[in-house]
Amino acid sequence: MALVPKIVATLAQRGVDVVVEAGAGENALIPDSEYEQAGARIGDAWAADVVVKVAPPSADEVGRLASGRTLIGFLAPRNEDNSIGALRDAGVQAFAMEAIPRISRAQVMDALSSQANVAGYKATLLAASELTRFFPMLTTAAGTVKPASVLVLGVGVAGLQALATAKRLGSRPTGYDVRPEVADQVRSVGASWLDLGIDAAGEGGYARELTDDERARQQQALQDAIAGFDVVITTALVPGRRAPILVTADAVASMRPGSVVVDLAGETGGNCELTRPGETYVSGGVTIAAPLNLPATMPEHSSELYSKNVLALLELMLDDEGRVAPDFSDQVLADSCVTREGA
Ligand code: NAD
Repeated sequence: MALVPKIVATLAQRGVDVVVEAGAGENALIPDSEYEQAGARIGDAWAADVVVKVAPPSADEVGRLASGRTLIGFLAPRNEDNSIGALRDAGVQAFAMEAIPRISRAQVMDALSSQANVAGYKATLLAASELTRFFPMLTTAAGTVKPASVLVLGVGVAGLQALATAKRLGSRPTGYDVRPEVADQVRSVGASWLDLGIDAAGEGGYARELTDDERARQQQALQDAIAGFDVVITTALVPGRRAPILVTADAVASMRPGSVVVDLAGETGGNCELTRPGETYVSGGVTIAAPLNLPATMPEHSSELYSKNVLALLELMLDDEGRVAPDFSDQVLADSCVTREGA
């Protein structure tokens, strides 16, 4: 949900007239009555000056936006099949949460990070519940159980949270990334660093795509390492590209039966060769899970964090009278705006 009642109350106190579509909070278990208590009206939200939502709009939703209106949400601007062209043609001024620059001042608006934290946390919980073994070491009267070993491939925001959660659950986590600068972050959450000697740091803190030779070397080295882990969680992404294959079918076959692979890159094809996006199944005794949209499985906190991201962006574009007046000399607004004035 793009605005939780607490944030609606903040906006209402500032004199902003908030309209919520009937039932909009249902999936986040927030009834219309809570929005009304916070100062919102239940009505036609699509007629408002600014429409805020989570997912990209459908064609029907774009049709409900009049020219000159402002839309804020995840708009998947890098997906080939997106609604940006339709929004431009409709004369909508649209801001994509994905395009907010990752600079210190904009951290409070960084919805990619807030949702990646939820996804990374939930990926580890999913792995723990699918694994046929304990995560922590246990010393019991019936014997001692060894802690599970967890390998996280791709340590951005989601991967770091997956590692931290694996550590909290008592397992022995290891992190791997192609950006060597990540090693210190991995160690800071109590995990070990797997060094394969490949440096593919790209622009803006993201990874670049590997060359064919680097990819072959990486897959071979990972295959050798993966056999020794109980759990592999993958989160590796390269902006605008298909997710790299890090876990080959042979690597899965080398894992002990009962082990688990959780692939968070399913939406862009997956990091595991055997991934079936959106499905969980067993291959040769190894469970392969590729859940889509994990933040939706924790709607309370994902909505709360997303609402704060949206509020911060909204505040940046409102003038003293509460009117929408974005100043495009501000880098955050200039970068995140994907269509305006028909361009
Ligand atoms: P992401 O979701 O784009 O990718 C996840 C990880 O996959 C990245 O760490 C990437 O290096 C890694 N990866 C890509 N190809 C790989 C391969 N072949 N093998 C192994 N790993 C591979 O990343 P993200 O979570 O969006 O974070 C990207 C960067 O942005 C990070 O440096 C993060 O610290 C930074 N960041 C900065 C801010 C800020 O300053 N406001 C906020 C959030 C994130």
